[in-house]
Amino acid sequence: MSLDYENDGQLHEKLIEEVLSHYPDKTAKRRKKHLNVAKAGDAPEAAEGQALSECDVKSNIKSIPGVMTIRGCAYAGSKGVVWGPVKDMVHISHGPVGCGQYSWSQRRNYYIGTTGIDTFVTMQFTSDFQEKDIVFGGDKKLEKVIDEIQDLFPLNNGVTIQSECPIGLIGDDIEAVSRKKKKEHGKTIVPVRCEGFRGVSQSLGHHIANDAIRDWVFDGNGNKHEDFEVGPYDVNVIGDYNIGGDAWASRILLEEMGLRVVGNWSGDATLAEIERAPKAKLNLIHCYRSMNYICRHMEEKYGIAWTEYNFFGPSQIAASLRNIAKYFGPEIEANAEAVIAKYQPLVDAVVAKFRPRLEGKTVMLYVGGLRPRHVITAYEDLGMEIVGTGYEFGHNDDYQRTGHYVKDGTLIYDDVTGYELEKFIEGIRPDLVGSGIKEKYPVQKMGIPFRQMHSWDYSGPYHGYDGFAIFARDMDLAINNPVWGLYDAPWKKKAPAPMAIAAE
Ligand code: SF4
Repeated sequence: MSLDYENDGQLHEKLIEEVLSHYPDKTAKRRKKHLNVAKAGDAPEAAEGQALSECDVKSNIKSIPGVMTIRGCAYAGSKGVVWGPVKDMVHISHGPVGCGQYSWSQRRNYYIGTTGIDTFVTMQFTSDFQEKDIVFGGDKKLEKVIDEIQDLFPLNNGVTIQSECPIGLIGDDIEAVSRKKKKEHGKTIVPVRCEGFRGVSQSLGHHIANDAIRDWVFDGNGNKHEDFEVGPYDVNVIGDYNIGGDAWASRILLEEMGLRVVGNWSGDATLAEIERAPKAKLNLIHCYRSMNYICRHMEEKYGIAWTEYNFFGPSQIAASLRNIAKYFGPEIEANAEAVIAKYQPLVDAVVAKFRPRLEGKTVMLYVGGLRPRHVITAYEDLGMEIVGTGYEFGHNDDYQRTGHYVKDGTLIYDDVTGYELEKFIEGIRPDLVGSGIKEKYPVQKMGIPFRQMHSWDYSGPYHGYDGFAIFARDMDLAINNPVWGLYDAPWKKKAPAPMAIAAE
């Protein structure tokens, strides 16, 4: 099967019209700007050999009250994505207990360390605000919490204060508390003003978290690590959160080609890795959406170049390794070729096994700020096709980049509502949907296979060559699971043809 604008594109446009027709006029007008069909465009930046389309939708705009949006809040963007995985710091969910409790340890950020002794990623720390804290202020309580953390977990290397909504509403001075406690304990204390009400989605939380690194780690700890020996091939991996071990599967490839990964942000990261990041030669960005801000800052202030890369699926891995190697000259370029050649037999074996089982299967995606485009070629490496994709919190530059991946006729939906997504899935009936936990069970109840593409559904890694083998197996398990043959009630199944019965 191959998508084309004439057939699938027009079908998808009709689907959009049909979905919008059920909204009140004002809502339909606003939502129309977020839904579109990718059209073959003439943007000049297409990577060689890739189809190019324009995904012209409005994005990063406030969701309409009353619709079921799948977005998170700024606190989720800072605590859940950027800061939470930094393993040797304690991250306080500052405010009432629920925000931290109900988002506890959901991202599957793997790490090495002894939990509760020198690493704290899967623990939940909260200041547990009560009514009196809201009325009289919670700064004293915050001080007490930080003191208790030093007593109970003395091997922590620092603390972050992840503000929930009430902190901004009551005007607590968490910056003053941080300065005071930094002096007392001699440790890095980072106040993060990521109150959930800020911005339109978790995306602003990522930005605020990046700014906190700039202001409270780089600027506050500038003279640390003077004895750190810099090398000519030092790189930081930025925006790999080590979901199910992704960063480890990536690091192997970078190290095999002769680079030294001096920092991984922020999966399995230490505070020291963040502090000394400005000493690296190149920043490699995987999740552009959540971490481009700090890379741009490092470029401006420390002169460190950055480049994006994509380690989903062999086509993009090879292209990325070659692009990264270009920054380091012929020796590393030759090493990159050797790494690609080394893993080719693994790639061939995975493709030989799974492509025949997955060829021609269609996929709809709805994920966060990177994967709606980055995983597309990994599916295509297995002969599958993306028929719809969209972002929870993408910005215009994400949709521009998406045009380098999707084909003419692909359905594009930004901040899609629960109702729209359900209707699109019903209308298209793809062979697989890749999205989050909130979408998983309704989709499966529609009889359509599903994979969680935020947390890899308790599996992974999906990055790197090792990850591709797991990715292919997981997609096969989801799509070709015999359970889908049991979906129809026995009395709704087609009766076997009389000839077949006679032959038995
Ligand atoms: S929006 Fe506010 S109250 Fe809700 S989870 Fe985010 S920080 Fe907590």
